[in-house]
Amino acid sequence: MSKHIFITGGVVSGLGKGITAASLAYLLKSHGYTVAMQKFDPYLNVDPGTMSPYQHGEVYVTDDGTETDLDLGHYERFAGVKCDRHSNYTSGKIYSSVIARERAGEYLGATVQMIPHITDEIKAAIRSAAKPDIDIVISEIGGTAGDIESLPFLEAVRQFKNEAGLGNAIVIHLTLVPYIKSVGEMKTKPSQQSVSILHNIGIFPDMLVCRTENAMENEQRRKLSLFCNVPDEYVIEERDVQHSIYEVPQELAERQMDSKVLELLRLPVTESHFDDWRELLNRVLHPERTCRIALVGKYAGLRDAYKSIFESFSHAGIALRTKVVCDMIEAEELETDCSKLEAYDGLLVPGGFGARGIAGKVAALKYARTHRMPCLGICLGMQCMVIEYARNVLGYADADSTEFNAATSHPVIDLMPEQRKVVQKGGTMRLGAYPCQLVAGSRASRLYGKELISERHRHRFEFNNDYRATLEGAGLKVGGTSPDGTLVEMVELPEHPFYVGCQFHPEFQSRPFTPHPLFVGLVEASLKVRG
Ligand code: GLN
Repeated sequence: MSKHIFITGGVVSGLGKGITAASLAYLLKSHGYTVAMQKFDPYLNVDPGTMSPYQHGEVYVTDDGTETDLDLGHYERFAGVKCDRHSNYTSGKIYSSVIARERAGEYLGATVQMIPHITDEIKAAIRSAAKPDIDIVISEIGGTAGDIESLPFLEAVRQFKNEAGLGNAIVIHLTLVPYIKSVGEMKTKPSQQSVSILHNIGIFPDMLVCRTENAMENEQRRKLSLFCNVPDEYVIEERDVQHSIYEVPQELAERQMDSKVLELLRLPVTESHFDDWRELLNRVLHPERTCRIALVGKYAGLRDAYKSIFESFSHAGIALRTKVVCDMIEAEELETDCSKLEAYDGLLVPGGFGARGIAGKVAALKYARTHRMPCLGICLGMQCMVIEYARNVLGYADADSTEFNAATSHPVIDLMPEQRKVVQKGGTMRLGAYPCQLVAGSRASRLYGKELISERHRHRFEFNNDYRATLEGAGLKVGGTSPDGTLVEMVELPEHPFYVGCQFHPEFQSRPFTPHPLFVGLVEASLKVRG
């Protein structure tokens, strides 16, 4: 039977619940336990797929095509767990399934209510992650204690914990212990208040994890223990890390969070194997070289919009003992002048939606192509590579994607016939893992070291095959296609030091110990430019 850990948050949002949960999962796995992870998000969207990255940051896509919260990226990367449609539930997803069931007559006779119908649905979602081969399920509850939206989830957690029985389900509350400069003191009151919100709804946290800037004194720990009703030894300090999020598992291991959690769950505190992470951290903290990459996108004000891309560069950097400095440049700034790119060794044009910023991305790609600057185009980035080549090499001045110009005389990127019929917006793109056959002898196949790969997608538009022969004839080669040959998945310029585009999102599959070959390839080529 799986044991359950619930992670709630208090005081403020943005405390890094996702990283803490993922780090704990990593530590428990290093003790030999099998772990599954899931996240509950209290907003009403059915999934984050229709939200702007400005609202929500990146939409992370799983193999099975679920559009999810970016914390699931941390789960997959840090903890090496595999996420799927059971790993992310929003209020919208929970409510819509209850309402659909009501319409189908499944509750005939009953008044459908928050308790028990919504809370039962949430408990069923929690149970869906518990499988015979999973020792521990970690469920992160999004939002902050005290939010109206989180209440049904917290109520479900209360019920679940009660039903599971002692030692089978625990609640860890992540909170902030701020340092107030003017009085030179750390303050525990906000945490006391946030725990009292939980007490009021019947949840008594088993462990407090306190985000702090500085080391916590015994005095504060005693206060927290006394007022929050949590034994002293289960008040854990999580100090801000200095350099990298990769320090978090080590920080928590030093505080023995892993063994204390195992104690609370009444599981044997087995020996942990943590050496590979130490070696990884050593590489992160002591790089031998630096390379500079420009990320030209349209959400340049928000690093969370490209979370997995930054992480993928960290992974490539770990493999190559290189500090990859990746700066975001707003595409619109490059429309008439690309001289900003001179300061960089490589370029990445990421995915995106809508017309804003396209001119700047196309200009940046022309610069990279003609200045032999290593460049990777992801999804919309690859589509822009095709548009740029058609305009500036083939001379099709108005070549475009029909996403931006439905009336173009050269629709080099277009919808597939089945997508033209789709009117619904949410969850209707080409989503999730698809196989891709790489062309023998292509740069893509050399980078991957094999010819059949699987990568995750999230897009509506595709390379238009009507232009394939002309573009290939002019030098932009196809590096990979769907196994039946109908969908172009990769393009490349064989004569260029590194000019590769992919219709999929490689950043979702890069891992600290298994960096993605396209990112490693780009960084390697960029290091060569630097000399
Ligand atoms: N907007 C493009 C499409 O829908 C690209 C999407 C993306 O980059 N993820 O095809």
